[in-house]
Amino acid sequence: MNTLTDITAARPVAPNPGDHHMSHAHISLKNIHKTYGDSVAVDRLDLDIEEGKFIAIMGPSGCGKSTLLRMLAGLEDVTSGDILREGQRINDLAIWERDMPMVWQSLALFPFLTVRENVEFGLRMNGVASAERRTRALDWLSKLGLEGYANRGVDQLSGGQRQRVALARCLVTEPSVLLLDEPLSALDAHLSVQMQGELKRLQRELGITFVYVTHSHSEAFSMADTVVIMNQGRIEQAGSPEDIYLRPATPFVARFLGGSSIFDCKARRRKSGELVLEGADGTFDCAASELVELDEGEKVSLIVRADQISVTAAAGWAENEVSARVMGEEFVGALVNLRLETASGTQITVQLQQRDMQALDIEVGAGITASWHPEDGHIIKT
Ligand code: ADP
Ligand code: MG
Repeated sequence: MNTLTDITAARPVAPNPGDHHMSHAHISLKNIHKTYGDSVAVDRLDLDIEEGKFIAIMGPSGCGKSTLLRMLAGLEDVTSGDILREGQRINDLAIWERDMPMVWQSLALFPFLTVRENVEFGLRMNGVASAERRTRALDWLSKLGLEGYANRGVDQLSGGQRQRVALARCLVTEPSVLLLDEPLSALDAHLSVQMQGELKRLQRELGITFVYVTHSHSEAFSMADTVVIMNQGRIEQAGSPEDIYLRPATPFVARFLGGSSIFDCKARRRKSGELVLEGADGTFDCAASELVELDEGEKVSLIVRADQISVTAAAGWAENEVSARVMGEEFVGALVNLRLETASGTQITVQLQQRDMQALDIEVGAGITASWHPEDGHIIKT
């Protein structure tokens, strides 16, 4: 890939992503609803997308991610609600009037056209003259490291090269918004990681708004400014990667991200006046900042991340302790994920260093004590 100074120079009007004055809702989805017959694909969804930001949309298969993106692109009608761009309703604009091209997994390159012709396609649709089309297409091919491939057929390219042609085809029209639907899922792991880096750099340097659908946690959390977690056509949580990781808003988000243990509890007031959490697995302390706004008897989920739980052979050492049985272990490089289960059936995940695991001499089926610091628990009202 060529230098990014080249790319920036090609688009001098690119907003500076670091300039907070530029941050405003560029695109607003207002009460967007989409049904197919009786089934609801997107359920009265609201979302503001800021200019120049990288938004990753995640959620289980069938939750409405692609439908949402296709409605933005103009490939799908909106049943009700409004899509606003700079405050203007764009529901009825045709695909080519939206300036929001979409890159998707199957790429949809034309097999009967050369690489250059594929890249020129969008410009041809926009009525750009032949000589200029050619110059701009070759320019983008070279920016994406494909200068030697202009006259090849797309079937003579590797997966990663095809992905770059698809990107060049979208970028050549210099859109301010790019929609991407699982663009890397067809690539092998190594190429995918390499493309992640390139995509993020392109997005940042060009100041293009990316709306990026992915099922990959690592893609979303490494690239995005905002992560949106969807479930059954609705948004469960939208926030910075850090926010979502540290403070999942719903038990669904905690479960979807994985790696956390969830204890169903109720708030109880001790004689001393302080609140504690009581559940089938025990009584737990929590940080005062987490307990504010809780009333006696209120139902909550207590979330504890796998890296915050310790295990010991003997009980009686820590404030928040749970007895559990070792169900299994999974080796991930130097780390071990230990799966435990309590008598009440709560699943607990513990992340340990392999050497600590060896020191503990843990066996599947053995009884063990899991514990965590009160300040490491995160409370979600249920
Ligand atoms: P995701 O991309 O999150 O996996 P989709 O947006 O593709 O989910 O689909 C959301 C829901 O809408 C699913 O239940 C799916 O079966 C349904 N759906 C999507 N496209 C159509 C269609 N063209 N006709 C009928 N149902 C559809
Ligand atoms: Mg999809």
